This record gives sequence, C-alpha cells and structure tokens, in this order.
Amino acid sequence: MHNHANFVDVVISLGSNIDREQNIPEAVRLLRRHRGIDVQAVSCVFESEAVGGPEGSPAFYNAAMLACTDLSPEDLRAELRAVERVLGRERTEDKNAPRTIDLDLAYYGDVVKDFGEWQIPDPEAATAPHVAVPIADVAPDWVHPVTGSTAYDVVKTLEGAEERVKSVMAIQLSPPYAVRGPEDFDDVGEVYAPHFEALVRQQLEEIGEDPTREGLVRTPLRVAKAMDFLTSGYTTTLEEVVNNAVFDAEGAEEMVLVKDIEFYSMCEHHMLPFFGKAAVAYLPSEKIIGLSKIARITDVFARRLQVQERLTNQVADALMDILEPHGAAVVIEGKHLCMMMRGVQKQDSSMITSSMRGTFKSDARTRNEFLDLVRS
Ligand code: ZN
Repeated sequence: MHNHANFVDVVISLGSNIDREQNIPEAVRLLRRHRGIDVQAVSCVFESEAVGGPEGSPAFYNAAMLACTDLSPEDLRAELRAVERVLGRERTEDKNAPRTIDLDLAYYGDVVKDFGEWQIPDPEAATAPHVAVPIADVAPDWVHPVTGSTAYDVVKTLEGAEERVKSVMAIQLSPPYAVRGPEDFDDVGEVYAPHFEALVRQQLEEIGEDPTREGLVRTPLRVAKAMDFLTSGYTTTLEEVVNNAVFDAEGAEEMVLVKDIEFYSMCEHHMLPFFGKAAVAYLPSEKIIGLSKIARITDVFARRLQVQERLTNQVADALMDILEPHGAAVVIEGKHLCMMMRGVQKQDSSMITSSMRGTFKSDARTRNEFLDLVRS
C-alpha cells in the first residue's frame, strides 16, 4: 500500500492529558481503523509537563505515528479532527486547556505550506520537545523539508529535551491495540463505526466490565460488525433482493409453498435474538418468483429490530406487492431468547404467528390446505 504512487508518508503527533492512558491508545486504534490511513509505526509514549496551561494542569502523554495516506493534507487534518471529536475533544479559545486528545499533522511528505491557521510542517515539530522527541523515536531519519535536519538531530538541538520529555514505557502500544487483523476483513466487509464502538465500550463499563482487558479490546469492533450485519435489512430494498427473478406464471395456479425457511431476528423490546422457521405460500395469478428469493425476502425483514407479528405480516404483504397473487400466507414459529434466557417462560416454548392474505383469508379450504401442508 505505501509503495503506491498516490501514497504520501506522514507523521502525526498525539497528545493527551485527560484520561491519557486510555485516549492515546484509543486514538491510535481509531486511526489504524481508517481506510485512508495506513499506520506504519508508533513511537513510545512520552510524558511531559503541561506548558502554558492553567496552574496545576496534568502532565501530558505524547506519541508520534508514522503513516502513509492517500488523503490530501486538508482531508487528513479533517479526519484527525473527527477522531478528536469521537474522543470527546472540545476546542476552546484556550489553546493550552487540558484535552482528551490532540492530533496534529506534523509532516506531510516534504510538503512545505502555509494554510493560514496551520502550517506544514507543524512548527512545533522543530521547536517543542514534546512533539519532536516522539517523532525522533518513531522516525529518526525523517528529514525536515526546510532545515534539512533529521528528526534525531532536531532533538539534539533542543536544550534539555530528553530530560524534560520522559519515555514512559509502561504503556503498551503494541497489540492488542492493533486492530487491523485478517478477521477484520471477513465477508461482512470492513465496518468503520468509531462512534458506535465508543458506545459499546461505554456499555461494557456500565455493566462493570473493563473494556481494556485483552478479551474485550476488540469486542466493540466485533459488535459493530455484527450489528451492521444483523440490521442490514434497514438498508436492503426488496427491489435489489428480487432483482428480476419474477417470471410469467404461464398458467401455473397451484399453491407454491416454501417451508423451513430459517430466520434470525432481534426483538425490538430487548434487542435479543429470536429465531426459528417460516413457511411461506402464495397462490399465483400472473407472476411467480424464484424460490430462493422467498428466503431472501424473509431476511430483509428479519434483519431489523422486530416483533414476530410484524415480521409475519411484512413478509405476506411483500409477496402481495411483488406478485399480486390470489393470496399469500405466512406462518412463523420463533423462539425468543428474551423469554428463554430470563426464565419468563418455559425454555422450550415457542411462539407461532400467522398472516393470511387474499384467498388464504377468505377461503377456509385454501387456508386449511396450507396449514395441513405446514404441519406435515
Ligand atoms: Zn424481547
């Protein structure tokens, strides 16, 4: 990726003096998740006294990150601001106020440019020990595009830099913070939902867990991906599911029945799974549909927060809309974990719902024929 012609090497500096033990690794983790930012290396974490802040400001943790990107300087800076916001950064008039996180673009290749409110390189990269020392740690040979000094030499020229900025090796910036493992790229696709992940971490804390312990570090990402899949029905349209699989009935008028369609949904009351099997039937008029599409239609409505009654009705109504048949019928048998796990009902109990449309509703013989077939 970083050998690609469109990619530029950059150095990003990080700082925090509010919840700094969490916020520095978290910022690294979020940046690593970003599609446009390929993180190559991260420095040690360094501690330094707050400069120019209010009396008694807590000391900072600082780090630097070597990355490559295909984003423009402006876009990259905007992404850094976005991650700052996710981590609760509020920018005020006071430049030196304590902050959850500070993400600055220190170098962007060998670009030298004044953007008015900010410059590349960041002037502090050559003047401020808390910025220069971490950069020298992660990229000692980085050449300052104006002075020609290496990052290592820059630190040598800053008086007392190494004494004032101390490496605090206690923080592990090595894995498990590294989240770009192969399992992030399964067939669900990559999900970038930093805000959602932040909420999951908060939820873990609320239930008394430690979101930073090894087994849970990747959990918010996994939950985000699982939810993305389990609620994909919200963003899937019937048109894309049916996708030209509706055919001329050519005189077929017997009942079409598909049984044992497995479905998995989540109840909207507890956000816990309910699952089971659906039986779906219709009496063709002009049109028929590929059998596999009936299961896909069921999935569109199951992959949302649901109640079983509505799910049943929606599948029946969708068939009426798409095929304009003489009638449609759906029976769903579902087991609800919100009842089973909480012991509200016997563990084996299941719920049966049905929806009858057209002939299935008006004609008892048709309905009974369907129900007999479902039970057999
Ligand atoms: Zn429920």
